Amino acid sequence: MREYNTYANKQLEKLSKTQDKFIAKFNTNSYSSWFYDQETELLRLYNEDIDEVFFKYIPVGTYSPISNSWMWSWHNEGSIEEHKYETLKIKKFGKKHGFDFLTNGLINCEKSECWKLTAISKNLIGGIGVYSTNSKDLQKYFIIVKVYKDINSMEVQRMKQKKVDCGIHGFRRTAFVCQHLDLENPKGFEEAFEAVKGMDLDESEDFAAWCSECEEYRLSEDGWNEESEKFADIKLVCEECYFELKEFNKK
Ligand SMILES: [Zn+2]
Ligand SMILES: [Zn+2]
Repeated sequence: MREYNTYANKQLEKLSKTQDKFIAKFNTNSYSSWFYDQETELLRLYNEDIDEVFFKYIPVGTYSPISNSWMWSWHNEGSIEEHKYETLKIKKFGKKHGFDFLTNGLINCEKSECWKLTAISKNLIGGIGVYSTNSKDLQKYFIIVKVYKDINSMEVQRMKQKKVDCGIHGFRRTAFVCQHLDLENPKGFEEAFEAVKGMDLDESEDFAAWCSECEEYRLSEDGWNEESEKFADIKLVCEECYFELKEFNKK
């Protein structure tokens, strides 16, 4: 462990030298908003749609302040980025040196460890800088590979069409669920239509689901009306969250 700490601190020091230049060059601290798209592996930093910069990224890992745990992106099934497997280099390196922090997919640690893990990753993989989202539920750490200048490209257009950024999954398609559905107690999962993750939707279609209690209410009211809609109090989530809820709540 001491050997690991010495190594990790050295990597962090090494990163801080190049990172200062990266921040200064792209003014990354001047942007108030961010979103990322896993499909295109693009990170957008922006201010109210006027001022923006796009980066290509490699996802390093995520940190949950709730469970105090770090998950390497190679271990993360929710991550669909192709380049997440670049982080297997770090696992390999960790195996060679016997550093458990680098070989276990999920580790319990303080948040302060995250930048060390990210620094190690950047120094082994390469890249021009690092970035982390500041969401309160889950923080995602990136290696910035390069600045992406072609802002009129198909990739950027596609990314902008996606509508919601839930803070956990990045920019995804929108979905709607009743206020009762959560990941704590299964409550049934009634859908407007049998939805499959990633399926094509017509413009008029939306992913929509509600719990068994809402379904009972809906049937007693002969369908959706003011009363049953009030009871459901539909909320907006991302597609990814929708299918997590489906998996957990369906009976
Ligand atoms: Zn409900
Ligand atoms: Zn989500």
